[in-house]
Amino acid sequence: MAINLDLMKKKLDMSKNNGREKRDNTKWRPSEGDQSIRILPPMDGDPFKEFHFHYNVGKNPGILCPKKNHGEECPICEFASQLWRSGVEENDDNAKREAKKLFVRKRYFSPIVVRGEESEGVRVWSYGKTAYEQLLGLVLDPDYGDITDRDSGTDIVLNYSIPGTPGSFPKTQLKPRRRPSALCDDAVDDCDKLLSSVPDISGIFTRHTSEEVQAMLDEFLSSDSSSETQSSETEKYGSKSKVDAAFAQLMND
Ligand SMILES: [Zn+2]
Repeated sequence: MAINLDLMKKKLDMSKNNGREKRDNTKWRPSEGDQSIRILPPMDGDPFKEFHFHYNVGKNPGILCPKKNHGEECPICEFASQLWRSGVEENDDNAKREAKKLFVRKRYFSPIVVRGEESEGVRVWSYGKTAYEQLLGLVLDPDYGDITDRDSGTDIVLNYSIPGTPGSFPKTQLKPRRRPSALCDDAVDDCDKLLSSVPDISGIFTRHTSEEVQAMLDEFLSSDSSSETQSSETEKYGSKSKVDAAFAQLMND
């Protein structure tokens, strides 16, 4: 049997990367300052996809909520609302605060190209409620309409600012270009190819079963309560504030 060249290339990449697969370049994060992006027309008529996540569960990245996304049982939702109720009943602000951190959050996702980086192909941009409502407002404004239209859509200038004060959230501001434009200019070799490579966004997240989510929650809770001694308390809060910072970064508006 002939050598599988694709596999060999992958092995070479992994070897050069110390055994890790090449970093996934699909998920795009804005850099500080201005950048111009174009939201791509979706196959199904909806360019703004909504997903629900739980953050702050130990070191896990955002966990897809089985209940809000797939109508299955969610141990984290359950736990967070129990904790919230007991916080209310016992007038315990700390419990309420911890519960709030675990409540489900909405994030929105759109396939885009970044102007000047068209050769990188389709990227997925994740944003919060403010940007989402602004985008919907644009689409519903007859002066703009379908901003994703291939021939006469609108590029958007995204300004991303990271505030100097600790604990405050990065800000995303969106400004549509004044004039409509074609999606593909000289910077894009093959427009059809670009459009056909728009990924199914749900496929970029790991979907966990209710049992798996329960296991992640259990692990988080047991590691939390095991650090009750005085000496590890500082440690605990130290690492918690790091989580907060990471969270602030994620909820970038
Ligand atoms: Zn949930």
